[in-house]
Amino acid sequence: MTALSAVAAYAAPSAKAPLERTTVPRREVGEHDILIEIKYSGICHSDIHQAQDGWGEGIYPMVPGHEIAGVVVETGSGVTRHALGDRVGVGCFVDSCRTCEYCKQGLEQYCVEGMTGTYNALDRNGEPTYGGYSTHIVVDENYVVRIPDALALDVAAPLLCAGITTYSPLRHWRAGPGKKVAVVGMGGLGHMGVKIARALGAEVTVLSRTLAKKQQGIELGAERYYATSDPKTFEDLAGTFDLILSTVSAPLDFGAYLSLLKVDGALVNVGAPEEPVSLNLFSVIAGRKTLAGSMIGGIPETQEMLDFCADHGIGATIELIRAEEINEAYERVAAGDVRYRCVIDASTI
Ligand SMILES: [Zn+2]
Ligand SMILES: [Zn+2]
Repeated sequence: MTALSAVAAYAAPSAKAPLERTTVPRREVGEHDILIEIKYSGICHSDIHQAQDGWGEGIYPMVPGHEIAGVVVETGSGVTRHALGDRVGVGCFVDSCRTCEYCKQGLEQYCVEGMTGTYNALDRNGEPTYGGYSTHIVVDENYVVRIPDALALDVAAPLLCAGITTYSPLRHWRAGPGKKVAVVGMGGLGHMGVKIARALGAEVTVLSRTLAKKQQGIELGAERYYATSDPKTFEDLAGTFDLILSTVSAPLDFGAYLSLLKVDGALVNVGAPEEPVSLNLFSVIAGRKTLAGSMIGGIPETQEMLDFCADHGIGATIELIRAEEINEAYERVAAGDVRYRCVIDASTI
């Protein structure tokens, strides 16, 4: 076994400080661990929240990154799921209790004891976890998924968070042929929601603040595209959708969006406003509607999503960046200026 004392990484040394190149320790490759040479790492909006300590209790130095695509370069003696040279991915968590009812069902993201985040968390031994803005990572084989050959690693990386975050609720609420699905927001999550809902066979509408990205939304698979800044949108689309997937973290007028659902329709949130929201419950009572949420997906469903995306030729639409451009990319993500995911080329770290 190789004892990796330190690997190159980009880390935020403290809250609100710019990320800088450094080294971080990786644990020795244990019996059930694999060592991954990271090729690409996506920049998720939640990386920025956490690096800047927007959620509090951040662990520093912090190496963000939970959209990891790479290649297996070493395996522990007991590893059976992955082999040297395999193309693999790691998403938002690297461990969970493995014994609760949700872990046993492959719903590790809802583990009773809480999943272990890929970064900004403490592992079983109390050591901090460091994420994908790095050259290598050691992960238990049970928390590593296979990336099919048909998917290029750079466009596959964002599927590990943005892809599964949208795929899981679209599947759970049965987006498919004959279903009218609206995707709210056309950012990193929203653009994946459009591609996946379309590939599932649903009729897709984008609800975005403005029509600025309309042409691209149509090209990605939306049949219709409306501006939510126009009050007429809510008149025209009343009672239209079976499912609305909201990917935005800005506070929404939930009553207005619920009015766009058919009877038995569901409004599912994967983005969360920081402030509590209030709602007149008649918005859900009239029409037997559901207001719901969903968080990433478990390991089996993440594998299913990657296989689905490979079968349908779906990757993220990305901008490949060099590691020294991370801080600039953070500003662009915060400004909504990225089409649609920045991905770090790990060979530049
Ligand atoms: Zn994410
Ligand atoms: Zn569990």
